[in-house]
Amino acid sequence: PLVLGIESSCDETGVGIVSGHTLLANEVASSVEQHVRFGGVVPEVASRAHLQALVPAVRRACAKADVDLSELDAISVTAGPGLMGALVVGLAGAKALAAALGKPLYGLNHLAGHVAVDLLDHGPLPTPCVALLVSGGHTSLLRVGDIATDITEIGSTIDDAAGEAYDKVARVLGLSYPGGPVIDRVAADGDPRAIRFPRGLTSPRDLERHRFDFSFSGLKTAVARWVETCQREGREVPLADVAASFQEAVCDVLSAKAVEACAHVGADHLLVGGGVAANSRLRALLAERAAAAGITLRTPRPALCTDNGAMMAVLGVEVVKAGGRPSPSDLGADSGLPVSRVLV
Ligand code: ATP
Ligand code: MG
Ligand code: FE
Repeated sequence: PLVLGIESSCDETGVGIVSGHTLLANEVASSVEQHVRFGGVVPEVASRAHLQALVPAVRRACAKADVDLSELDAISVTAGPGLMGALVVGLAGAKALAAALGKPLYGLNHLAGHVAVDLLDHGPLPTPCVALLVSGGHTSLLRVGDIATDITEIGSTIDDAAGEAYDKVARVLGLSYPGGPVIDRVAADGDPRAIRFPRGLTSPRDLERHRFDFSFSGLKTAVARWVETCQREGREVPLADVAASFQEAVCDVLSAKAVEACAHVGADHLLVGGGVAANSRLRALLAERAAAAGITLRTPRPALCTDNGAMMAVLGVEVVKAGGRPSPSDLGADSGLPVSRVLV
């Protein structure tokens, strides 16, 4: 099937066109620069930017893919989770497009989209597999029985998301927003073993109750304390070493638990998705540990890890193939949509 996917859950307006597992177009307009001076996404600003960017992005995607809207088999759109005011803009646009064209509309889960996007790079997914979802708002381990119909959460963060931790630590270090890509870059010149920062929920006692859960708020506090101590003692903060050591703590726990989840689920494939999946250290550590455990690792190219329309389009393809029912015409946005609900 030929599907156009629309994404507007946060600060990226994405329109992708996908035919089966072939990516034809992926137009992304980001309002990130408008949020930089606030150090985080301002919902009202994001909504307005989506409103301005959506129709031009649809036009550009069609031109890029050399597809006429009349040729589409379906339209898919992010129904949640995300910022309510941002979601409703994409949803309204998708509804109008579907109604005007007489095409079926599928309201889909953004998080499942982060997982599904890898199909564009590596084809059909052997199941069951484990997906490590690491994004700005979510961090969890998923058992994927079928990408369109069967996703269950086996663990998740009990406080901050991994991307959120990167963004907050970047702020503590005086680095710009969004912090993930900046820390990734700065850490490249640092020693990951310079400072031993805490690994959340890895003590034997924590593992009893939280075997596949994560916690990053203690780590964030530890980094802040370490920096404060430096400043109080009048020492210069060794930015690269702090960034590398923080990153090591995050990636160590994420990769260890992800590989262990594979054994738990009986999966020999591990997939990674979400913005933090673009992280170079996470990709390297996962590759190392997955290989040692005999697990095949699937990581989408970095550009597909952050929010985009193609991820919603390819998830739409899978839902259409699975015989999913189109969403009702009164489909609404759900800012807290659980990951297990792929199709709304
Ligand atoms: P969610 O998907 O949970 O709704 P979101 O859509 O805002 O949240 P994504 O776009 O998937 O999140 O990812 C954005 C996050 O990814 C930000 O926190 C950003 O700092 C982080 N990120 C992006 N690139 C990297 C990188 N190279 N290393 C670490 N983190 C990164
Ligand atoms: Mg974003
Ligand atoms: Fe996202």
